[in-house]
Amino acid sequence: MGIKEKCAICSEKIDLRYNPMEEWGIDGSLCGKCYSKKINEHYPGDHIRVNKHLD
Ligand SMILES: [Zn+2]
Repeated sequence: MGIKEKCAICSEKIDLRYNPMEEWGIDGSLCGKCYSKKINEHYPGDHIRVNKHLD
C-alpha cells in the first residue's frame, strides 16, 4: 500500500485528492490544479456554485 493516486487528467501524483463532479464525466480523482481548472471551465466566474443564479 502507500501508493499515491494519480490525477485522472494530468497523471501527476496526488497529494490532496479531489473528487470530480459527476457531470464532468471523469473517472478517478483529480489533483488540486486540475480540479480548479475544471471548476473554472464548468462554472466560469464562480469558484463553486453556492448560490444558483437563475434568470
Ligand atoms: Zn491533475
